[in-house]
Amino acid sequence: MRIDLHTHTAVSDGTDSPAEMLATARAAGLDVVALTDHDTTAGWDAAEAARPPGLTVVPGIELSCRWFPGDQSPISVHLLGYLFDPLHPVFAAERARLREERLSRAERMVEALAADGYPVMWAELVAHAAGGVVGRPHVAGALVRAGVVDTVEQAFGSLLHHRGPYYVAKADTDVRQGIALVRAAGGVPVFAHGLATARGRVVGDEAIAAMAAAGLLGLEVDHPDHTDEQRAHLRSLATDLDLLTTGSSDYHGSNKRTPIGACTTDPAQFERLLAAGTGTAALRD
Ligand code: AMP
Ligand code: FE
Ligand code: FE
Ligand code: ZN
Repeated sequence: MRIDLHTHTAVSDGTDSPAEMLATARAAGLDVVALTDHDTTAGWDAAEAARPPGLTVVPGIELSCRWFPGDQSPISVHLLGYLFDPLHPVFAAERARLREERLSRAERMVEALAADGYPVMWAELVAHAAGGVVGRPHVAGALVRAGVVDTVEQAFGSLLHHRGPYYVAKADTDVRQGIALVRAAGGVPVFAHGLATARGRVVGDEAIAAMAAAGLLGLEVDHPDHTDEQRAHLRSLATDLDLLTTGSSDYHGSNKRTPIGACTTDPAQFERLLAAGTGTAALRD
């Protein structure tokens, strides 16, 4: 059994359609794949319609959250949520707020770039996003199309870096609220790439313990952005806190170089996740 529980499509900041992502998953020999677009469930129906026989699809999300460390500025954290009821009204409203926040924030980044002479246009970006949930990769794509940088990664390394000149923070969901919402909707909250220092500041063990106390059910341990040491640390934390562990690629199509299935989840851990999710069913034969 090969199980990848974290992927993105063009419904957010990946490049495959949901149907293409599932075909890619099948071609890569996966048995189970989760669809976890940023802050939206808009790809779930297309994934259900396009699911190839034999492939189990886990409906999910990656929710944009924040942890507030005492007296310092908030730390961005990503919360995976699986098998929740997409119609739970309070959770649905919070996702809609996050998508609005993403739009206004990306527009501010584009306006600031344009004001400094970079030939990017908000209307062009919106047209190119084609209704998908907008993120920094879309701004990066606009910079590539404008010829300012050669690749999306170059844009992330310079202009759009989280400590770079055009970065604008988003008002993301308090992670304890995010965990509560996923649980209230019958879902399974899993802390995504929790120690990936390459992405910016990361939280300490006390924050992960507080998340567990708030109802977190799992930690994403095997992730391309984690070192061996970070994985070992998360694995021991998961044992201490009685959390399930996952491994996933965080596939984004051609927006990143990571292939689908680059990291995978242990089948016994997947069974724990399936048993805990009551808001919606996995899609399977
Ligand atoms: P945002 O949430 O809009 O601030 O953008 C974060 C997203 O950018 C992540 O979900 C990744 O998809 C993407 N990302 C982060 N770093 C890189 C990178 N170095 N190259 C390509 N995409 C990246
Ligand atoms: Fe992303
Ligand atoms: Fe993430
Ligand atoms: Zn992701």
